[in-house]
Amino acid sequence: MDVVQTLESLRRWRATMHRSIGLVPTMGFLHEGHLALVRRARAENDIVAVSIFVNPRQFGPDEDLARYPRNNERDLALLRDESVDLAFVPTVDEMYPSGFSTTVDVGSLGERLEGVSRPGHFKGVATVVARLLNLTRPQRAYFGQKDAQQVIVVRRMVKDLALTVQIDAVPTVREPDGLALSSRNIFLSIEERQAATALSRALFRAQESFDWGERDANRLRQIVRDLLDLELLVRTDYVSVAEASTLDELDNVDRPALLSLAAWVGQTRLIDNVPLDV
Ligand code: AMP
Repeated sequence: MDVVQTLESLRRWRATMHRSIGLVPTMGFLHEGHLALVRRARAENDIVAVSIFVNPRQFGPDEDLARYPRNNERDLALLRDESVDLAFVPTVDEMYPSGFSTTVDVGSLGERLEGVSRPGHFKGVATVVARLLNLTRPQRAYFGQKDAQQVIVVRRMVKDLALTVQIDAVPTVREPDGLALSSRNIFLSIEERQAATALSRALFRAQESFDWGERDANRLRQIVRDLLDLELLVRTDYVSVAEASTLDELDNVDRPALLSLAAWVGQTRLIDNVPLDV
């Protein structure tokens, strides 16, 4: 596996590649969710590139950038085990050299759900993903359904900027008790880890109710809220039932929708979602 840290060496690497490339952008501290993306990329492309970059532009001033977990050595060993061809591990200065001033803004799509609590988050995401796509020029790029709004935002950007990459979404990988894998789960105490199971439990309960025919979006939101409210260590940020591609909130679920939530478990903010397929 080649490990490159500079844009210059990444460009040189890219110039020698004439086979299909699959890119997996990550912020590192890899877990089985990330590895599911890597395995999909491995199965569908000749060459697999993985980026590890904790992108400061997608963190707000009061967010957890400084304490975001990192372990590059372990990450690189995991990627070697998955027969990844290239790991791109740039520094912040390399990604945002002095004078850098362009922002990719997908507009209102980035201002709902996560965008309400995390203003500017998706500008940071779109800007770094655009840069990674341009540097790597992959045929396919892989994102997790766990961050469903991110997939929607990236697809919008790819369409609007006429980029020639296919964006593939990979289903959420969960712990046996339902908790979606996340690098931030490491922050949870034993009690919080137990309480965090309420997130997926609430989503699954509402999804089940939907499968039995419930179409009233407010009732579905309420099912989730009520179950989250039972957990003293959980504080709900939002519960959304939104149209799957525009993320417009729905009254009645008469088309494909996304049921999503964000909640604080102690000091840790977690997100999760399930699709509501009509
Ligand atoms: P992150 O390092 O958190 O930025 O995640 C990098 C990529 O892995 C994103 O596309 C995430 O959506 C994806 N990812 C993170 N957690 C999971 C999970 N539990 N299942 C599937 N994909 C995930």
